[in-house]
Amino acid sequence: MEIKIKSDLHHVVIVGGGAGGLELATRLGKSLGRKGKAAITLIDRTRTHVWKPLLHEIAAGSMNPDKHELEYLAQAHWNHFRFRLGSMDGLDRAKREVYVAPFYDEDGIEIIPRRTFQYDTLIIAVGSTTNDFGIAGAREHSIALDTQDQAERFHRRLHNALVRAQTQEEPVRAGQLEVVIVGAGATGVELAAELHNTTRELAAYGLDKINPDRDIKISLIEASERVLPALPPKLSNSVEMELRKLKVHLYMGERVTEVTQKGIYTHTGRFIPSELVVWAAGIKAPDFLNNLDGLETNRINQLVVHRTLQTTLDENVFAFGDCAACPRPGYNENVPPRAQAAHQQASMLVSTVKRRVAGKSIPEYTYRDYGSLVNLGRYTTVGNLMGAISGGSMFVEGLIARFMYQSLYKMHLMALHGFFTVFLQTLARVITRRTEAKVKLH
Ligand SMILES: Cc1cc2nc3c(=O)[nH]c(=O)nc-3n(C[C@H](O)[C@H](O)[C@H](O)COP(=O)(O)OP(=O)(O)OC[C@H]3O[C@@H](n4cnc5c(N)ncnc54)[C@H](O)[C@@H]3O)c2cc1C
Repeated sequence: MEIKIKSDLHHVVIVGGGAGGLELATRLGKSLGRKGKAAITLIDRTRTHVWKPLLHEIAAGSMNPDKHELEYLAQAHWNHFRFRLGSMDGLDRAKREVYVAPFYDEDGIEIIPRRTFQYDTLIIAVGSTTNDFGIAGAREHSIALDTQDQAERFHRRLHNALVRAQTQEEPVRAGQLEVVIVGAGATGVELAAELHNTTRELAAYGLDKINPDRDIKISLIEASERVLPALPPKLSNSVEMELRKLKVHLYMGERVTEVTQKGIYTHTGRFIPSELVVWAAGIKAPDFLNNLDGLETNRINQLVVHRTLQTTLDENVFAFGDCAACPRPGYNENVPPRAQAAHQQASMLVSTVKRRVAGKSIPEYTYRDYGSLVNLGRYTTVGNLMGAISGGSMFVEGLIARFMYQSLYKMHLMALHGFFTVFLQTLARVITRRTEAKVKLH
């Protein structure tokens, strides 16, 4: 089946409605789509959008996803673009066609057949997945936090483990209530702190046979010598001190060699018992990009792009966000896979597409690093902010850091809904918070 658009209209197809893609589709829909100057189609493999940096909070149970997910169909209806459900699996650049796999329901019944979409401009923003580096047992016995489903699955397993421990006759086994997180980057350390808080909250909601300090253990394993290896040492030290206060077990300089049902082996021969392993070490772009009609990719499957975000071999195909390897002049690395980069690139692409439709030249992207913030749940937030004028970095913590951390999500919401709606939503949450449990109880 082929989806036809009025032939004289420039057709922009965006694949992936995540942190970057949904902002782009919304803003293009509100401008070009509403004025009838271009047709905008967004394709995503899921029906609803949740901002990915919230996934560790969903996994820990400190955030209820129902309150933060957005229906793509409704967003498309309100903002003058079309949404199509499905997973891109191929491309024909000569014909300018995107291929989308058939869509099956949970029972394996095909509900949407294979489809083809024609484009004038194609923008790929399919994000990244966790990279398990092919380590034995990692895929089978650990959970990644790439999707809302995975985050919710982890939460259910954690909750079930606590309920089982509460009702069993025998004492808690070694590893039964031990969560091991592989990778002490921002995702790993934030998850460790959230879990410390929510496991105590859950135990307080009637799981009285569990003594969190005695029975629940949270461990972080990291191949580098310090937590947050990609961030400045001062930030690592400050976060490490907090984690030690929370009695999170830190195994630094330990490389995981195997994951089993019962726990983890590291290269020093250590075995850490755990029935709940989260893999949060490294990312790669989805495998299908490696085979996308010859487009250039790097060793982690990212599409290699110029600073215009056009892929190196096809000027009609753009890529951005985590799935793109975008050069960063003056640095030995590409633009980092961060929500703030996806947000900035989406903003630039709004202008790029408008200029392309009008036949004008297009801009180049420069990554603006505003610094990094690490949120240790209700305990503290720390970060380094980059000075706008001096370019130096400034250490921040506490309330100011928390406010800055939250503002990245607010910026995403404002790109999707506008200032007034976000203001009302925030107010409503503040009012209803008192009547809700502090953790998700199922
Ligand atoms: C737990 C966690 C915490 C994080 N915290 C932070 C943070 O504090 N600050 C920060 O800057 N970054 C953070 N990040 C990183 C940030 O989430 C990503 O950099 C950002 O989401 C990338 O945006 P994106 O649009 O490229 O991809 P995503 O937001 O991942 O969106 C990709 C979209 O593509 C869709 N998709 C995938 N494959 C297909 C396909 N074949 N066909 C159709 N659709 C497809 C997916 O369903 C998804 O909707 C965090 C990440 C995680 C996992």
